[in-house]
Amino acid sequence: MYPDLKDKTALVSGAGKKAGIGYAVARKLAACGANVLLADIFRQKDRSNPLVTTSENELSELTESVRSDFGVRAEYCHLDVTDADSIARMAEYAGAQFGQIQVLCNNAGSVFGVPNTLHTYDDEAWQKTLDVNLNGVFRVSKAIVPLMTAPGGSIVNLASRAAKVPPAFNGAYAVSKAGVMMLTKVMARELAGAGIRVNAVCPGVIATDFTQWRFELEAEILQASEEERQAEMLKTIPLGRLGTADEVADLIAFLASAQSAYITGQAVNITGGQLMEL
Ligand code: NAD
Repeated sequence: MYPDLKDKTALVSGAGKKAGIGYAVARKLAACGANVLLADIFRQKDRSNPLVTTSENELSELTESVRSDFGVRAEYCHLDVTDADSIARMAEYAGAQFGQIQVLCNNAGSVFGVPNTLHTYDDEAWQKTLDVNLNGVFRVSKAIVPLMTAPGGSIVNLASRAAKVPPAFNGAYAVSKAGVMMLTKVMARELAGAGIRVNAVCPGVIATDFTQWRFELEAEILQASEEERQAEMLKTIPLGRLGTADEVADLIAFLASAQSAYITGQAVNITGGQLMEL
């Protein structure tokens, strides 16, 4: 598909959920022949953050599937993007195992707290959301860029449609993703001379655990069924369906590959037409 990715090494954060975008990216890059390092936090689901559910066992099994399905080198490691020590250990492991990294996909993301107006948003939920989604991208990039020594490197960050269209009651998430967009553009300017391109993708509504949780939560708050919430959502998407993790992974593989060699500093929409500008 993107033959220049063969034998390159890619690091994907938040890659430990079978239905998630990160794992789909790891598989897509591996299908192109890239070696992959899948990194994720190991924490059981809890009430404060129902979206973090990866276990070491799960990540190890997913990594083994990548290895056996595509015959590439695949490794995994623990990574908490909010913890400087964890990031340093991950970068050391990546360097020891692979030497260089050519592709970094900053995919780890989450949202904390319950939907609320910004002026009443819970302080801790605000901090945690920004810490994972925005500071996490900053910290991981800082640790990995020194390993991207050969020209031709590519960083792809997960922003969101919510970074461009203000969603009510989801302000911390939207602000964090808008920050990711600007971070992407600044890094693109700064790293262009080193031959590293930096882009973001802005997915709309993609069928993952994240979206399922959102429909469940909205249904509870609005006293509607999940099916009703989903039907309402589909009316806003011209293509009339949710996107798939695989479709987002396709776009990320394109941005990682030399096929997009003249594209940097962009925030590319993948929304089924839900967002048509910017
Ligand atoms: P998901 O919840 O299925 O996966 C997110 C991954 O991030 C999980 O594997 C989780 O363990 C990991 N993660 C969370 N906190 C972490 C931390 N502190 N350290 C390391 N890893 C951590 O979500 P998804 O739908 O696959 O989303 C992936 C990315 O795409 C996220 O950044 C999300 O904000 C973004 N996105 C998703 C959608 C959508 O509709 N699903 C839309 C726009 C943007």
